[in-house]
Amino acid sequence: MNYLTIVLTSSCNFKCPECPMGEYRKSIEDPRNYNYINLEKLSEFLRDLIDPCEWIIELTGGEPTLCKEYIPTINLLTKMGYRISVLTNATNMNVIGRHPNLKYFCTWHETQMDFKTFSKNIQNCNNECYAVYYPNKKTETDAKVLFDLYSIPYVYCSWNEDLFTFGNIMEKLKIPYVPFESITINNVGEVAVCAKMKPYANLYNYTSKNKYDFIPKQKTCTGFPTICPVWFRNIQAWGV
Ligand code: SF4
Repeated sequence: MNYLTIVLTSSCNFKCPECPMGEYRKSIEDPRNYNYINLEKLSEFLRDLIDPCEWIIELTGGEPTLCKEYIPTINLLTKMGYRISVLTNATNMNVIGRHPNLKYFCTWHETQMDFKTFSKNIQNCNNECYAVYYPNKKTETDAKVLFDLYSIPYVYCSWNEDLFTFGNIMEKLKIPYVPFESITINNVGEVAVCAKMKPYANLYNYTSKNKYDFIPKQKTCTGFPTICPVWFRNIQAWGV
Protein backbone atom coordinates (compact mmCIF):
# COMPACT_ATOMS: atom_id res chain seq x y z
CA MET A 1 0.00 0.00 0.00
CA ASN A 2 1.17 3.55 -0.74
CA TYR A 3 0.37 6.85 0.97
CA LEU A 4 -0.49 10.22 -0.48
CA THR A 5 -0.64 13.20 1.88
CA ILE A 6 -2.54 16.29 0.84
CA VAL A 7 -1.81 19.48 2.80
CA LEU A 8 -5.21 21.15 2.52
CA THR A 9 -4.32 24.29 4.41
CA SER A 10 -1.58 25.82 6.53
CA SER A 11 -4.15 27.62 8.69
CA CYS A 12 -5.21 26.43 12.10
CA ASN A 13 -7.53 27.39 14.95
CA PHE A 14 -4.83 26.44 17.51
CA LYS A 15 -1.56 28.11 18.34
CA CYS A 16 0.61 25.27 19.61
CA PRO A 17 4.10 26.38 20.65
CA GLU A 18 5.57 23.27 19.01
CA CYS A 19 3.75 23.78 15.70
CA PRO A 20 5.82 22.86 12.64
CA MET A 21 3.54 25.09 10.53
CA GLY A 22 4.08 28.06 12.85
CA GLU A 23 5.96 30.32 10.53
CA TYR A 24 3.67 29.62 7.59
CA ARG A 25 0.39 29.77 9.43
CA LYS A 26 -1.99 32.35 7.99
CA SER A 27 -5.63 33.17 8.57
CA ILE A 28 -8.07 30.82 6.85
CA GLU A 29 -9.44 33.95 5.15
CA ASP A 30 -6.07 34.75 3.58
CA PRO A 31 -6.72 35.11 -0.15
CA ARG A 32 -3.40 33.53 -1.12
CA ASN A 33 -3.53 29.88 -2.10
CA TYR A 34 -2.17 28.23 1.05
CA ASN A 35 -5.83 27.54 1.68
CA TYR A 36 -6.93 26.47 -1.71
CA ILE A 37 -6.96 23.22 -3.58
CA ASN A 38 -7.91 22.90 -7.21
CA LEU A 39 -10.23 19.90 -7.22
CA GLU A 40 -10.27 19.65 -10.96
CA LYS A 41 -6.48 19.32 -11.18
CA LEU A 42 -6.45 17.06 -8.18
CA SER A 43 -8.98 14.66 -9.65
CA GLU A 44 -7.06 14.51 -12.95
CA PHE A 45 -3.82 13.78 -11.10
CA LEU A 46 -5.47 11.09 -8.99
CA ARG A 47 -7.25 9.46 -11.89
CA ASP A 48 -4.01 9.15 -13.84
CA LEU A 49 -1.49 8.25 -11.15
CA ILE A 50 -3.06 7.23 -7.86
CA ASP A 51 -4.92 3.91 -8.03
CA PRO A 52 -7.50 3.66 -5.19
CA CYS A 53 -6.61 -0.01 -4.69
CA GLU A 54 -2.96 0.88 -4.02
CA TRP A 55 -3.09 4.23 -2.25
CA ILE A 56 -4.48 5.60 1.00
CA ILE A 57 -4.92 9.37 1.08
CA GLU A 58 -4.28 11.39 4.22
CA LEU A 59 -5.55 14.96 4.52
CA THR A 60 -3.59 17.24 6.78
CA GLY A 61 -2.70 20.90 7.47
CA GLY A 62 -2.70 23.12 9.49
CA GLU A 63 -6.15 21.99 10.47
CA PRO A 64 -7.60 20.36 7.32
CA THR A 65 -11.25 20.55 8.40
CA LEU A 66 -11.06 24.37 8.22
CA CYS A 67 -10.30 24.36 4.50
CA LYS A 68 -13.22 25.58 2.40
CA GLU A 69 -12.74 22.62 0.07
CA TYR A 70 -12.62 20.09 2.90
CA ILE A 71 -16.09 18.60 2.38
CA PRO A 72 -15.91 18.69 -1.44
CA THR A 73 -12.49 17.00 -1.22
CA ILE A 74 -13.85 14.21 1.01
CA ASN A 75 -16.82 13.79 -1.32
CA LEU A 76 -14.57 13.63 -4.38
CA LEU A 77 -12.19 11.11 -2.82
CA THR A 78 -15.06 8.98 -1.54
CA LYS A 79 -16.67 8.98 -4.96
CA MET A 80 -13.37 7.95 -6.53
CA GLY A 81 -13.12 5.02 -4.12
CA TYR A 82 -10.17 6.05 -1.90
CA ARG A 83 -9.62 5.19 1.72
CA ILE A 84 -9.19 8.53 3.49
CA SER A 85 -7.47 9.48 6.74
CA VAL A 86 -7.71 12.93 8.27
CA LEU A 87 -5.07 14.20 10.69
CA THR A 88 -6.85 16.68 12.94
CA ASN A 89 -6.67 18.52 16.26
CA ALA A 90 -10.14 17.12 17.10
CA THR A 91 -12.02 20.42 17.16
CA ASN A 92 -14.14 20.19 14.07
CA MET A 93 -14.74 16.58 13.09
CA ASN A 94 -18.52 16.55 12.94
CA VAL A 95 -18.59 19.17 10.21
CA ILE A 96 -19.11 16.11 8.01
CA GLY A 97 -21.47 13.16 8.48
CA ARG A 98 -20.66 9.49 8.32
CA HIS A 99 -18.60 8.58 5.28
CA PRO A 100 -17.59 5.13 4.22
CA ASN A 101 -13.80 4.67 4.24
CA LEU A 102 -13.02 7.73 6.37
CA LYS A 103 -10.95 7.62 9.56
CA TYR A 104 -9.68 10.38 11.82
CA PHE A 105 -6.32 10.62 13.51
CA CYS A 106 -6.64 13.02 16.43
CA THR A 107 -3.61 14.62 17.99
CA TRP A 108 -4.10 15.85 21.51
CA HIS A 109 -2.49 19.26 22.01
CA GLU A 110 -2.66 19.61 25.75
CA THR A 111 -1.73 23.28 25.78
CA GLN A 112 -4.78 24.01 23.61
CA MET A 113 -7.47 21.53 24.68
CA ASP A 114 -8.25 19.80 27.97
CA PHE A 115 -8.37 16.03 27.94
CA LYS A 116 -12.08 15.81 28.80
CA THR A 117 -13.02 17.79 25.69
CA PHE A 118 -10.58 15.80 23.54
CA SER A 119 -12.00 12.51 24.76
CA LYS A 120 -15.62 13.69 24.32
CA ASN A 121 -14.93 14.86 20.75
CA ILE A 122 -13.49 11.47 19.88
CA GLN A 123 -16.39 9.55 21.45
CA ASN A 124 -18.94 11.74 19.62
CA CYS A 125 -17.33 11.65 16.19
CA ASN A 126 -19.50 10.47 13.30
CA ASN A 127 -16.61 8.49 11.85
CA GLU A 128 -13.98 6.11 13.19
CA CYS A 129 -11.41 7.91 15.33
CA TYR A 130 -7.96 7.16 16.69
CA ALA A 131 -5.89 9.29 19.01
CA VAL A 132 -2.26 9.69 17.93
CA TYR A 133 0.34 8.73 20.48
CA TYR A 134 3.95 9.92 20.19
CA PRO A 135 6.06 7.57 22.33
CA ASN A 136 8.92 9.94 23.12
CA LYS A 137 7.09 13.20 23.07
CA LYS A 138 8.23 15.30 26.00
CA THR A 139 4.95 16.34 27.51
CA GLU A 140 3.97 16.55 31.13
CA THR A 141 1.13 14.13 30.70
CA ASP A 142 1.54 10.54 29.62
CA ALA A 143 -1.16 10.47 26.98
CA LYS A 144 -1.07 6.68 26.63
CA VAL A 145 -2.15 6.22 30.26
CA LEU A 146 -5.13 8.49 29.66
CA PHE A 147 -6.05 6.86 26.34
CA ASP A 148 -6.05 3.45 28.04
CA LEU A 149 -8.01 4.74 31.01
CA TYR A 150 -10.73 6.25 28.81
CA SER A 151 -10.66 3.34 26.29
CA ILE A 152 -9.69 5.62 23.44
CA PRO A 153 -8.25 3.69 20.51
CA TYR A 154 -4.89 5.06 19.44
CA VAL A 155 -2.12 4.58 16.94
CA TYR A 156 1.55 5.06 17.66
CA CYS A 157 3.31 7.72 15.66
CA SER A 158 6.96 7.96 14.74
CA TRP A 159 8.37 11.46 14.79
CA ASN A 160 10.86 11.46 17.60
CA GLU A 161 12.05 8.06 18.64
CA ASP A 162 15.41 6.57 17.82
CA LEU A 163 15.81 3.55 15.54
CA PHE A 164 16.05 1.12 18.43
CA THR A 165 12.83 2.29 20.11
CA PHE A 166 11.05 2.42 16.78
CA GLY A 167 12.17 -1.11 15.86
CA ASN A 168 10.87 -2.37 19.22
CA ILE A 169 7.51 -0.70 18.72
CA MET A 170 7.18 -2.20 15.25
CA GLU A 171 8.03 -5.62 16.63
CA LYS A 172 5.56 -5.27 19.50
CA LEU A 173 2.79 -4.20 17.14
CA LYS A 174 3.79 -6.92 14.66
CA ILE A 175 4.11 -4.40 11.84
CA PRO A 176 6.14 -5.72 8.93
CA TYR A 177 8.10 -3.23 6.86
CA VAL A 178 7.28 -3.47 3.19
CA PRO A 179 8.59 -0.93 0.66
CA PHE A 180 6.02 1.66 -0.17
CA GLU A 181 5.59 4.87 -2.04
CA SER A 182 4.79 8.03 -0.09
CA ILE A 183 4.19 11.41 -1.64
CA THR A 184 2.88 14.76 -0.49
CA ILE A 185 0.84 17.34 -2.32
CA ASN A 186 2.03 20.49 -0.73
CA ASN A 187 0.83 23.96 0.01
CA VAL A 188 -1.57 23.62 -1.58
CA GLY A 189 -2.26 21.62 -4.65
CA GLU A 190 0.69 22.96 -6.62
CA VAL A 191 3.49 20.47 -6.14
CA ALA A 192 3.59 16.81 -5.22
CA VAL A 193 6.84 15.46 -3.78
CA CYS A 194 7.83 11.92 -2.89
CA ALA A 195 9.08 10.96 0.56
CA LYS A 196 12.64 11.70 -0.47
CA MET A 197 11.60 15.21 -1.49
CA LYS A 198 11.92 14.53 -5.18
CA PRO A 199 9.41 16.27 -7.41
CA TYR A 200 6.63 13.89 -8.32
CA ALA A 201 4.26 16.04 -10.27
CA ASN A 202 3.74 19.73 -10.66
CA LEU A 203 0.01 20.15 -10.37
CA TYR A 204 0.18 23.82 -11.20
CA ASN A 205 1.34 22.94 -14.69
CA TYR A 206 -0.46 19.66 -14.81
CA THR A 207 -1.80 18.87 -18.25
CA SER A 208 -2.19 15.63 -20.13
CA LYS A 209 0.76 16.72 -22.29
CA ASN A 210 3.43 17.23 -19.66
CA LYS A 211 2.33 15.24 -16.65
CA TYR A 212 4.86 12.42 -17.01
CA ASP A 213 7.81 14.84 -17.16
CA PHE A 214 7.65 15.30 -13.43
CA ILE A 215 7.65 11.72 -12.23
CA PRO A 216 10.99 10.68 -10.70
CA LYS A 217 12.51 7.42 -11.90
CA GLN A 218 12.88 6.04 -8.40
CA LYS A 219 9.51 6.41 -6.72
CA THR A 220 9.43 3.71 -4.11
CA CYS A 221 10.57 4.49 -0.58
CA THR A 222 13.04 1.72 0.25
CA GLY A 223 14.63 3.32 3.31
CA PHE A 224 13.76 2.38 6.87
CA PRO A 225 10.73 4.55 7.51
CA THR A 226 11.76 6.28 10.72
CA ILE A 227 10.63 9.57 9.33
CA CYS A 228 7.43 8.43 7.68
CA PRO A 229 4.74 8.85 10.32
CA VAL A 230 2.13 8.79 7.55
CA TRP A 231 3.00 5.19 6.75
CA PHE A 232 3.26 4.25 10.42
CA ARG A 233 -0.14 5.50 11.55
CA ASN A 234 -2.01 4.36 8.44
CA ILE A 235 -0.67 0.82 8.45
CA GLN A 236 -1.98 0.46 12.02
CA ALA A 237 -5.40 1.95 11.35
CA TRP A 238 -6.12 0.32 8.01
CA GLY A 239 -4.12 -2.86 8.51
CA VAL A 240 -2.47 -2.53 5.11
S1 SF4 B 1 -3.02 21.87 15.94
FE1 SF4 B 1 -1.30 21.26 14.62
S2 SF4 B 1 -1.33 22.72 12.91
FE2 SF4 B 1 -2.60 23.58 14.56
S3 SF4 B 1 -1.23 24.95 15.70
FE3 SF4 B 1 -1.22 22.92 16.73
S4 SF4 B 1 0.53 21.81 15.82
FE4 SF4 B 1 0.05 23.56 14.47
